[in-house]
Amino acid sequence: MFNASGMHVLDVTRDDAGQLVVRVETDQALTGCPVCGVVAVGHGRRVHCAHDAPAFGSAVLVAWVKRIWRSPTPGARWARSPRPTP
Ligand SMILES: [Zn+2]
Repeated sequence: MFNASGMHVLDVTRDDAGQLVVRVETDQALTGCPVCGVVAVGHGRRVHCAHDAPAFGSAVLVAWVKRIWRSPTPGARWARSPRPTP
């Protein structure tokens, strides 16, 4: 159903409007800081919603539960979720 390398589906539901909601997250457990190169530290998650992804004749909302990272090095300001491989 969701063919994006490095991502997997957490669950699929329908919201009150009948829209299909697919919650996904990336598989990557470790990533490096692009500033200093050390292994980044997990810093929670946030949901990024992508609309207009139709499937099976229905509107689909992809809710990407992104991992947020931070650098353990003081002064190296960076936080993001690695992108999935298309
Ligand atoms: Zn860093």
